[in-house]
Amino acid sequence: MNIFKHHNLAIILGHHILLGYGIYTYGFNPLIALLIFVYTILYNVYINGKLIHLEMAHSGYKDSFWSYFATIYSLIGGGTGSPLSFSYIHRMHHRHVDTENDPHSPKYIGRLKVWFLLWKLKAINPSYIRDFMRSPFQIWIHRHWITLQLLSLVVLWMINPLIVLFVISPTVVATLHYSGFINVRGHWYGQVRNIPEIMFTQPASWRHKEHHDKF
Ligand SMILES: [Zn+2]
Repeated sequence: MNIFKHHNLAIILGHHILLGYGIYTYGFNPLIALLIFVYTILYNVYINGKLIHLEMAHSGYKDSFWSYFATIYSLIGGGTGSPLSFSYIHRMHHRHVDTENDPHSPKYIGRLKVWFLLWKLKAINPSYIRDFMRSPFQIWIHRHWITLQLLSLVVLWMINPLIVLFVISPTVVATLHYSGFINVRGHWYGQVRNIPEIMFTQPASWRHKEHHDKF
């Protein structure tokens, strides 16, 4: 079994449908939409961008309160894969940027495939995630990621379907398209570039060129 594959693509697609269903059923309220939009930005800046991306994938993984917090938060409230698989793919991306070994180079697999996570992963090299392999917590979470995500959705739905329809689903949908935008526009001409067009929605991620220069 290729544990690094994006098995959660079906879940991400499901959230698009759920969000559409929510708007169709409950109507569209611009004020609530704005609040949700701001929440998805905060989620992407702090949970995804800072704790998982910078602290785990780039600074090296260590078990800590904040690692557990961000892992469980993204499991329940986000749509990306496990921090272990994200870090593996992201480290591959940085070390082999815009070459054939970059899992999501628009130059090699095309912009659409990059946007929709249809990435190319060659033979897995565990040396990229030795730090994660030392954490039984991360390995356990990674192995059961899809089951745990589905379970949390069922529990939240039983508490109140509105939580799923208007908190979880919009976050998953927004995260896919925010990161799709960064991965595609940040490598638009087959090389790394800054993305000033998302300066306001992704204040921490638009300096993609500087990010690559640094890590
Ligand atoms: Zn990049």
